[in-house]
Order: sequence, then C-alpha cells, then structure tokens
Amino acid sequence: SSRRPPLPPQKIEAAGSSSDTLPEDIPWSTSSALDGLLTLTKAKGHYWYPNDGSRILDACGGAGVACIGHGRKEIIKAATNQMKECSYVSYAHFKTNAVQELSDWLIESTGGAMQKVYLMSSGSEAVEAALKLSREYHTWRGEPQRVNFISRSESYHGTTLGSLSASGHHTRRAPFSPLLSPTNFHKIPPCNPYRQPSSSPSEFLAARIAELESEFQRLGPDTVAAVLVEPIVGAALGCVPPVPHYLSALRSVCHRHGALLIFDEVMCGMSRAGTLHAWQSYNAVPDLQTIAKGFAGGYCPASALLVGSKIASLMTAEGKTFTHGHTYQNHPVVAAVALRVQKVIQEEGLLRNVQVQGRLLERLLTERLGGHRHVGDIRGKGLFWGVEFVKDRETKEPFEVEKQVAMRVFRCAMKSHGVLVYAGQGCAGEGKGDHIMVMPAYDVTSREVGKMVERIAAAVEEVLGR
Ligand code: PMP
Repeated sequence: SSRRPPLPPQKIEAAGSSSDTLPEDIPWSTSSALDGLLTLTKAKGHYWYPNDGSRILDACGGAGVACIGHGRKEIIKAATNQMKECSYVSYAHFKTNAVQELSDWLIESTGGAMQKVYLMSSGSEAVEAALKLSREYHTWRGEPQRVNFISRSESYHGTTLGSLSASGHHTRRAPFSPLLSPTNFHKIPPCNPYRQPSSSPSEFLAARIAELESEFQRLGPDTVAAVLVEPIVGAALGCVPPVPHYLSALRSVCHRHGALLIFDEVMCGMSRAGTLHAWQSYNAVPDLQTIAKGFAGGYCPASALLVGSKIASLMTAEGKTFTHGHTYQNHPVVAAVALRVQKVIQEEGLLRNVQVQGRLLERLLTERLGGHRHVGDIRGKGLFWGVEFVKDRETKEPFEVEKQVAMRVFRCAMKSHGVLVYAGQGCAGEGKGDHIMVMPAYDVTSREVGKMVERIAAAVEEVLGR
C-alpha cells in the first residue's frame, strides 16, 4: 500500500494544550547542519524514501521545485548526453547550443516580451542580477541616482545580502538586521485582502496603489531604480495571489516615474500557477523577470533572469553589456536539463493538468479544511495553494510564534501521515502567523490530490483538533 509503515507514537499535541513541547528547529535554518533530518535514500515519481523505511507522498516538491516528479529517464538522458558533449564552459569564452536553444525557447514562451536570458543556478542569484541590472540600466541612461528599491513588507526574494535586503521575511532577516544598505531598500505593505480589511475591491486596490505612490513621493520619484514583487507571494505569505488589476496598476505607477518593474517568479512561475509565466494570468508585463524552481524541476540547480524589451533594446542599440557573471552562468548541462523539463511539460500537456488538478485541489482543500475552526484562509492558484492557520477565525488572531503551529503540522503530516508539505511562518506580519503550502507536481493525478488532502487534513486535525 502507499501508506507508510506505522511509526512509534508521536509527541505532537494540540496547540494550546498545557503540555505543549516545542519541536526541533525548522529545517530551513538547520539545512546545512543536517541535524535531526532523516537521510533520503531514494526519490521516485511523487514519493520520497527516507532510510527509516517510510514512503512519503510529495505534496510540495521540496520547496515547490520537483514539478515533474523524480527519476524521469528522459531528463537523465538529456543530462548525460550534454555531459558527453560538453560538461562545462565559461560563459565568457564560448556559447553553446544548449544555452542558445533554451534562451530561444524562453523568449518565445514570453511572446517576445522578454528578449535576453541570463542562466544561473539559484533564485537568489537571479534576484541579485535583477537588482544589479536595474542599477546599471539607469546608469547607462544617465540616471545613476536611481539607487532605491521598493518591495513589500511580506515577501521573500532570496538568501544573499542584496536579495534578503529586498525581502520582507521577518524570521529570515532578523539575525542580519539592519542588513545591507538599509537606506536603499524600502517596503510597502503587501496585497493580502485576508489581512487588510477594506469596504470594497476598488477601495482595496486604490489603497495599495496609494501606498506605492506615496513611497515614490517620500523617496523622490527619480531616486527609485525598481519595484520588486512576487506576482503570487510564496514562502512569506503562503500562496497569496494579487487582486485583479493590482500588477498592471503597479506597472503604470513604475513607468510614470521612470522606474523598472521586476517580477520575482522564482516560486510562482514556470507553470506552477496555471500559466507558463504567472504574469500571463494578470495582463501585466514586467521589465525584468526571475525564474527558478519549476524551471528545471530540481534535476539541476537552475534559475534565470529574463530581460524585457525596453532594457534589451537599449543594450542592443548602445552595445551595452551587463557587468555581471558567475562561474556557473550559462551552464550547458543546466540548460539541456531545463529545456528537456520544459519540453516534457509541453509534450505531456501538463500546464492543462495544473489547471485541472488545481481546481480539484482548491475544491478538496476547501471542503475538507474550509470549515475548520483554526483555518483562517485557503488561497492560491494553479497547483500553488496555501492554508493559513489562526487561533481565532473571527478576529484572525494568529497563534503564538512559539507554538510553531505550521511546523508541527508539517512534522505530523510527514511522520504520522506520510505526506510532505511546506511550512511557513510570518503570514500575519512581523514573523507571526502560520501557513502550509501545497505544491504538487504538474503531473499529479486526481487520486494523488485526493490522497494528499486527506492526509494533510488528518495532520491538521491531529495537531489542532477537529
Ligand atoms: N524568490 C522567491 C520568490 C523564492 O521563493 C525564493 C526561494 N524560496 C527565492 C527568491 C530564492 O531562491 P533560492 O533559494 O533558489 O536562492
């Protein structure tokens, strides 16, 4: 059977009970130490196999990465063939067919809205590159004073100092506060209707845009290099989509003030949200775009910065080159693998499956958990869904941070119910608030979606009661 063998009784109790015990530290912060983690011996299809003999259904692709499951022979073959042909080359010395084909494919996938591709390894690198190219672009245009970035107070853009400075993730920033150039990174509130009450959708939208406009005015509009947002907010908020017209309104404000708009699609992009690029759902084209996770499905560390036509045409017309480069930039094996992953998604019609299974996932999560007294909100798009836990549904008061409710649901789901979800904290602001994210592979079946939701709901009930 797909159920994992029974394990010893768990030490997980209902939040709020007097015998609460704190779980171990969160895996994100212990990842390099490997303390307290099981050793994974195999991953196949949609299952993880740790060395305790269990078999864990993958409802999150790790960090929203493994989008076509594990162990696909066609991807292994693409990597092997590329390694035989050329396993590495410096981007400064030669170009390769693998990178050229991938770039052409990506540009085509944006309908030509994006015109240049810088292939890298991680989301943070792509965001850093976007920040730096924004600065260099303004310098080329004779506006070097545009040094400010505006992003949102609940957001995650990466773990390096620049990308973390742009992030609004309390827990991940706190140890490094005040971070790099605190005077150049500025925050506006998120776009999260669940936690920002308003009398009507139009008033809500107007308030968000007024916040951006007043930040431009406060800083001086001609000092702003770019506005950076995740179209659908991932780790920091738990899959919160923008309200209608929000992204296009951001674009208008940016362009009116001569600033660039950067969409960080590291998590929500590459078909995760039901369109190949998340912005294609919202009729708002960015000037710069980052992609990663679903790009190579975890078969290789892959990310990219895509450059929109405004910047690309200036570069072409004036012969400008971006002063930027990593040793592993334009890696041919990464390119061959990423392109093959994207071809699998195309050939198997998986974008359509994301839409179909996404609707099923939404329905089942809502049916099974929508009425739970500690579930405040269920939101998302495509196969990108978040469940926010609250102490009180009426007041939306979050649980105490120390209770680590999301972490406990995650641990209980994995240990007692054989399903892996992604846990997050901070969705209520300032590090408070708990959510889990459900991000199945694009080739997930209806049966698996049903199984995931059953197991997740069982874990929620075990931790938080019925
Ligand atoms: N941007 C977003 C939206 C992300 O979700 C992440 C990773 N969770 C990053 C950037 C950073 O990517 P990486 O961890 O690959 O550096």
